[in-house]
Amino acid sequence: MYKRIDGKEVSSYIKNQVKIEVEKLAEQGVEVSLAVIIVGNNPASRVYVNNKKKACEATGIISHEYALSEETSEAELLNLINKLNSDEKINGILCQLPLPEHIDEKKVIEAISPMKDVDCFHAVNVGKLWLGEYEFAACTPMGVMLLLDYYGIDVEGKNCVIIGRSNIVGKPMASLLLEKSATVTVCHSRTQNLSFFTKNADIVIAAVGKAKFVTADMIKEGAVVIDVGINRDENGKLCGDVDFENVKEKASYITPVPGGCGPMTIAVLMKNTLAAAKNQNNI
Ligand code: NAD
Repeated sequence: MYKRIDGKEVSSYIKNQVKIEVEKLAEQGVEVSLAVIIVGNNPASRVYVNNKKKACEATGIISHEYALSEETSEAELLNLINKLNSDEKINGILCQLPLPEHIDEKKVIEAISPMKDVDCFHAVNVGKLWLGEYEFAACTPMGVMLLLDYYGIDVEGKNCVIIGRSNIVGKPMASLLLEKSATVTVCHSRTQNLSFFTKNADIVIAAVGKAKFVTADMIKEGAVVIDVGINRDENGKLCGDVDFENVKEKASYITPVPGGCGPMTIAVLMKNTLAAAKNQNNI
């Protein structure tokens, strides 16, 4: 019998912890604030930004939204980031991706001060993550680690297979699992015989971006299955990378989509913003 990992429950728990700390800081006269930049009218980005603002409200973090038009130039955006970098009232800066094509995302990521880079995309923070000396970890992979921890799933010595090697999910996921002494395999689009790896995994983490990509025959009996994917199925319904209905019969633990990793990403963003504020105030 499988157990459904409830990302909503765990994210509420994390946000509540953040809220308690934010209130304590307020008593010391320290406010915690996050600047959220959105460029253009991408509907998915708008939903993400609104959800982040709601999480700020729930945790007592002050959010400042900078909604810029699609025509904003790269120079204008970099200028805004520079201002926010030197604004003492701003603790975290988040620039919602993707950006319009005429703006170089890499330049934008590198322009955000590493101390305020609560998404953990800056090269300095990525390096610190791999050294195990980090203030912030990438939100989605850290969300997965917190889910595993909450359910008492120890990764030490376990055979963990990540499907996907992106900079925002697959690679930092590998780093965090390694830090906790898991044996980590990262599979990707060029991996040959993917099932060979997944069938031997105690924990499978799917971050592919393809609906129902991970099927029951790819999973060993009793495996933990974490689904990071956010896709639409043939009926336009939200679904993950895992064929949930069939895989759940073999899994010991499994995350649903929605309600699994998604809410955790935002909860970790709040946690990171709090960490940034504490850091900047030497607390
Ligand atoms: P990406 O497109 O950058 O990376 C996808 C990865 O999948 C690549 O590394 C690629 O090598 C691998 N891949 C593609 N086809 C494959 C195949 N046939 N076999 C094995 N590997 C294959 O995507 P991403 O940004 O890492 O996101 C992955 C998914 O996670 C997307 O659905 C995205 O929407 C979702 N996501 C969710 C959250 C969240 O908060 N839950 C956050 C970030 C991303």
